[in-house]
Amino acid sequence: MKNMKLLELKHVNKSYKLAGKESVSILRDVSISFESGEFVSILGESGSGKSTLMNIIGGMDSDYQGDVIVQGKTLRSMKEKEIDAYRKEKIGFIFQSFNLIPHLSVLENVMIAMQMLDKSEKERMKCAMEILKEVGLMNHAKKRPNQLSGGQKQRVAIARALANDPEIILADEPTGSLDQETSGQILELLDSIAKKGVLIITVTHSQKVADFGSRIVSVEDGRIIEDQFLKERYTTVKGTVQKKGKNLSLIASFKLAMKNMRLKAKRNILVALGGSIGIFSVILMLSLGNGVTDYMNDEINTNLNPLLVDVVKSDEAEAVEEQGGPPNQQMGGAPFTEEDIATISGLKNVERVEKVTTIRGKTNVIYSEKNYELPAMATLTDTIIKGNIEEGTLPSENEVLLTTSFAQSLTSEVTYESLIGESIKLFINEMGENNQPITVERELIISGIYAQEDIGPIEGASAYVSYTTLEDAYSEQKLILQPVQLNAYAKKQVDVEEIKADVEKAGFVSSPIASIMEQVTTYVNMATWLLAGIAAISLLVSGIMILVVLYISVVERTREIGILRAIGARKKDIRRIFFSESALMGLLSGVIAVTGALVISILLNNVLSNSFGAELIQLSPEYMLFGMGASTLISVIAGLLPSSKAAKLDPMESLRYE
Ligand code: ADP
Ligand code: MG
Repeated sequence: MKNMKLLELKHVNKSYKLAGKESVSILRDVSISFESGEFVSILGESGSGKSTLMNIIGGMDSDYQGDVIVQGKTLRSMKEKEIDAYRKEKIGFIFQSFNLIPHLSVLENVMIAMQMLDKSEKERMKCAMEILKEVGLMNHAKKRPNQLSGGQKQRVAIARALANDPEIILADEPTGSLDQETSGQILELLDSIAKKGVLIITVTHSQKVADFGSRIVSVEDGRIIEDQFLKERYTTVKGTVQKKGKNLSLIASFKLAMKNMRLKAKRNILVALGGSIGIFSVILMLSLGNGVTDYMNDEINTNLNPLLVDVVKSDEAEAVEEQGGPPNQQMGGAPFTEEDIATISGLKNVERVEKVTTIRGKTNVIYSEKNYELPAMATLTDTIIKGNIEEGTLPSENEVLLTTSFAQSLTSEVTYESLIGESIKLFINEMGENNQPITVERELIISGIYAQEDIGPIEGASAYVSYTTLEDAYSEQKLILQPVQLNAYAKKQVDVEEIKADVEKAGFVSSPIASIMEQVTTYVNMATWLLAGIAAISLLVSGIMILVVLYISVVERTREIGILRAIGARKKDIRRIFFSESALMGLLSGVIAVTGALVISILLNNVLSNSFGAELIQLSPEYMLFGMGASTLISVIAGLLPSSKAAKLDPMESLRYE
């Protein structure tokens, strides 16, 4: 391909359709070719179609007729991705209004063009510094664009255009905003680039500027009216470096996003703060539910045994009816037979079975020569544990445990110490076989005072003796004591439900503590999720808020998006920048939410532990992670629309956006 031109336009026509069907011709049959090392000035009045032509050459505008052929390849045959790569690798854009990104430093403005090339950060930095040296801005690398003069700004723009070592530089009125002297310097700089074998195409409406180059192409009304060669082109053969394009790396896009966010720090912090409220409430509710469940289970566990499966023969009401009064049974529920006890003891996973009986009415106690009636007494069970003994110990044979309220009626003293070791006399009025009254008697020593009468195992019982003690006292009167309740103990809590099922299959009734606990947990969980669900509504609000803010951000940065597209950023890269921003925003609000929840939980726990003796808010690391994750996810989802709007912006129109 000896005679291949660097750039060739064949019969390029362009027209705009106006509001009506009327279409206005902007470029008319433009055919022209350019070679490397040329310094071409396109000269024409304002509105003659110069910028339109540049945009078509630069791959910013593909809505035209005719062909643009670069190194033998027509742009028309290129896919969008290839056009992006073409802009990135072959073209350097310079604009009249500089179009630098204001919040990036001079160095970063140059480096951003290289972000999308496969070079390491170090290499990019080195390369950018070299180019800045070439354009004479070595000592201004750290400055922001607005700290520079117009000429310096244009040098930065030139440096950026050079960053990817392009074959063609398109400069649209590069000296339009500069004074004469500075203009001269910029033209010299462009000439020195042409000298290296780069094709420079500048647009100008000034004859003086046009005279500087090697060739003047005059346009009028979208038509080339003259093509004038002033000097020989530079024939230097530009070394072509094999360039490998790549996407803007995720890290680079996060860095960019970080910078952008800092730029609007106040606004972003406020939005994150607003967004955090939802997540904050949700994790606080979940932690509270968690804490309350644990607290309740703890309370139940310390007072009651979760391994216990209580067994009664049938409902007490039924029992009384069915019963019809067998001799020595006046204990509430129907009594268990030896056979029943064997059945329960034989059930799978039952470790042991404890007999329990309650005697209601019929009981008197004589203490210190005074008579007291007991509404109910019961036999001792394993659910009465040492921990609940207020004073003294659990009762062994011929001892009795009294509840605090009964103890109170026996002594006028504040403590029950004086009662321990004292003896009482117990009388139970039973009926013998022929309905003749029999009194069961026993002298008992008070071993201890039991505090938990309300949630104790047998409601209303004021005194507890061991089953064998009571059995012994009954047998003295030739009466047989029969249990009205059997306490089956499971080996493990997981077996409780199965035992309960087996008990019911055998025709008995049971409501083990573990089942109650499970139910309590279920209700608390339901309440928790309900509250968390209500709190989650505010997540929707935060999502919408983030969406709106990102939309605003897209609008604010339309021009910046245009610049990035012009220097080769793909739609994907733009989407990535906004994606990173929404993710960062979500992460930030997640951090605020979790920190807030942590602080509040510590404060509230301090207050609550005074009244409940427990830390009711249990903020687990899982909840914190969940909070961060959910916040980020919501934000990213909210960012989808704005990101894709940003990516879809037309690069040419974005650049023209004021
Ligand atoms: P120059 O750069 O030579 O000043 P342009 O190429 O920018 O001129 O514009 C050429 C003509 O195209 C102008 O008359 C302008 O009004 C018109 N034009 C540019 N963009 C649009 C557009 N998006 N829709 C309609 N007309 C446009
Ligand atoms: Mg123009």
